[in-house]
Amino acid sequence: MGAATTDLIERVFRENAELANSLKRIIWRYAEEVSEKLGHEIKIMNFCGTHEWTTVHFGIRSLMPPSVELVAGPGCPVCITPAYYIDKAVELALDGVTVYAFGDAYRLPSVRPVKGARSLSEAKALGGSIEVVYSFLDAIKSAKNGEGVFFGIGFETTAPSYAVPLHAGIVPPSLKFMSILRLTPPAAVYAIEKAVEKGLTPVQGIIAPGHVSTVTGAKPWAALSERFGIPAVISGFEPIDLLISVARILKMLKEGEARLEVEYTRAVTWEGNVAAMKRVNEVFEVRDAAWRGLGFIPDSGWELNGRYRGYDAFEEYGIEPLTPEKWKYDLPPSCRCAEVTLGLAKPTDCPMFMKACTPGKPWGPCMVSMEGTCAVWAKFGGGGLAEDVARDLGLV
Ligand code: SF4
Repeated sequence: MGAATTDLIERVFRENAELANSLKRIIWRYAEEVSEKLGHEIKIMNFCGTHEWTTVHFGIRSLMPPSVELVAGPGCPVCITPAYYIDKAVELALDGVTVYAFGDAYRLPSVRPVKGARSLSEAKALGGSIEVVYSFLDAIKSAKNGEGVFFGIGFETTAPSYAVPLHAGIVPPSLKFMSILRLTPPAAVYAIEKAVEKGLTPVQGIIAPGHVSTVTGAKPWAALSERFGIPAVISGFEPIDLLISVARILKMLKEGEARLEVEYTRAVTWEGNVAAMKRVNEVFEVRDAAWRGLGFIPDSGWELNGRYRGYDAFEEYGIEPLTPEKWKYDLPPSCRCAEVTLGLAKPTDCPMFMKACTPGKPWGPCMVSMEGTCAVWAKFGGGGLAEDVARDLGLV
């Protein structure tokens, strides 16, 4: 999030102190009733890395009653990109194929060095051919002069920016695409099932990603509520949005209801961006896919379909697809990113947090991007600006 946007959001938050205060009172009142009814604390997962940013930056946790725990979820594409693909991209770059990657993917560490490099940035230091780009279009412009591979990470939000140029035929044949795209609702299902499997209290509510839903529509998240009988609210990204979403989840719990609601109505419709999804489905097909530290999740990835195989980096360079049999646990020693992305641990539970793992020198993948829970906690901690704002507003 840019500094100007952050300043604007902060100003709006300050200007709406009265509303924030009312929402806080509602949340505390509902929470008391719900926790009494359930007999235990209420766990709500904010699925998306940007929601975690807002939660930490604006001190939303400090506004919650003791019975409400907000936990982060697996919604950070950089954090869940399997190490296998980093290794393959490092190899290609050191073999002279130009790898185009976003800035955070560039710094993403693998488990162990490949040809002496544990990340694309280390490969660059060793003479590897890597270009950091802001978009797929930048790579398309740059790649006109030679062979290259685009390191295609992302969720549903990013998928149209890949699908549209591929469909329009403006991608030069020399630029291949490594699809590491992932779909988010299957990961939310996985996170809930994992908690149950481990005998832990599963989440009682989901704050679903607003930006993903602008593309996919609200529909995919409704199935989650129906399947697990838990309330879900698709939320915007400002602090007031999050407070409203928490209040709406608690209200549903209080009334014994479990459905999907859309708080982010200024951007999300039931069907979403139909034209964008049409393009995505014309270019990609859904398959089971690996998530870093977690393993394979059914129907959670997109690969290029038959018509676009000519652009497939895996076929072009003879890279074997990652299969469940081939996948190995792929987090560095001591890194607890898997539990952090499932909402089962906090960054501060990790022995490496702010010791051997810092934003300047990330040891694990959740410390790289500003959507990564460890990086957000490292930057803003539990207080900083967040508590200042809340104190100024008389909220704590
Ligand atoms: Fe992994 Fe670093 Fe987070 Fe620990 S602090 S879980 S090592 S990313």
